[in-house]
Amino acid sequence: MTISSLKVMSLKSKSSQFVCLVHYHEVGLKGRNRSSFERKLKENIEKCLEAFENIHVSRISGRLCVALESWQESFEIARMISRLPGVVRVSSGIRTEQSVEDACKAAIWLLEDFEPYTTFKVNARRANTNFPIDSMELNQRIGAELCQKLPKKIVKMREPDAQVHVEMVEGSCFVYVRTIKGVGGLPVGSAGRVVCLLSAGLDSPVAAWRMMKRGATITALHFSGRPETTDTSEHLVGAILDILKPYGGIERLCVVPFGAYQREISSVVPSKLRVIFYRRLMFAVANRVADRWGAKAIVTGESLGQVASQTLENIMAVDTIAHYPVFRPLIGTDKQEIITEAQAIGTFELSSISHDDCCTLFMPRNPETHAKLAEVETVALALPIDEWVDAILESLEVHDLRKSSTL
Ligand code: ATP
Ligand code: MG
Repeated sequence: MTISSLKVMSLKSKSSQFVCLVHYHEVGLKGRNRSSFERKLKENIEKCLEAFENIHVSRISGRLCVALESWQESFEIARMISRLPGVVRVSSGIRTEQSVEDACKAAIWLLEDFEPYTTFKVNARRANTNFPIDSMELNQRIGAELCQKLPKKIVKMREPDAQVHVEMVEGSCFVYVRTIKGVGGLPVGSAGRVVCLLSAGLDSPVAAWRMMKRGATITALHFSGRPETTDTSEHLVGAILDILKPYGGIERLCVVPFGAYQREISSVVPSKLRVIFYRRLMFAVANRVADRWGAKAIVTGESLGQVASQTLENIMAVDTIAHYPVFRPLIGTDKQEIITEAQAIGTFELSSISHDDCCTLFMPRNPETHAKLAEVETVALALPIDEWVDAILESLEVHDLRKSSTL
């Protein structure tokens, strides 16, 4: 905050308060969905801001209002909220009494803080007729007052540098100039649970994020090459989940030491079908993990044709073992698009660290790219899959990740 803006702050009336206004999508929010959506988003915001003191989140006419102690922390708080699924925009501003005079004082204070700018525009509205001045007159009166108080600034209706929003809502007046874009989607926790097959690679963290963005809560399932490899991939997956956790939807990480099973499969299954059977066993374990925690879908980071195992035939040869719908949020996404998304989420760097992985363990020289389902199912009959799955579930390493953290 500049020294001059500190000076202007004294103009602010005693009853006014710094706020972040959280805007969310109205579309698709009908009937009873709406209040549970708002409740979830409120909870997620409270959790994400746990480290801050004296934060109060309340609902006001289609928005959530986060009341803050200080203006300095409002930008950091707005940035953190903007990354939560379900948030379309976050505005930092001031809540005042419902009076034109207070609205103008707040607007001038906020504009001073917004410097440098040359042009501005007022966008004022009343939410209902409880406030006696209608939106048009409100615009004119606030506009006229600001022009008088800011003689060096120019009013510009199209693409001004600064837009002063004034909203008379539910007994309060909200004034804001700064707004940042949110990620959109639905609040995490509003769409049920999924089991996400999470490697330390680039794709599956992005797939998990996309599901979180649609409101799903994640149980991550990771297959480590241990004891045939080191546990590096497990640490990387843990660090990737630390990055995803503040978005609100990571419940737990289940780790399976998978090396011995891969060794077994590689010794009894025709070599070109190995990868298909590694993956079938992963899905069979995912079925049981989903049963245990009430998840209703399995999620992977596959993208059509990206590697040999991701052809339509091979996907089909794996899917027949799944008891739940298998979602592949990246199936039609190019690698470069996935990279850009991973960079935005913050997982790209960790995903780029080279590591031992069960994926590269006992890989056949020529993996099948067009598996025949009948052949796969015949081979499957000879394998003690259920026994393996029982043993894996018994020694499943479960890490509870529901404790909160900050972005
Ligand atoms: P990723 O970048 O997510 O590792 P990928 O392009 O390397 O994907 P594959 O290795 O064929 O492709 O894996 C396809 C999908 O299978 C992954 O996106 C992930 O969902 C799942 N998967 C692969 N390896 C593992 C693992 N070790 N643990 C858990 N899931 C895995
Ligand atoms: Mg991989």
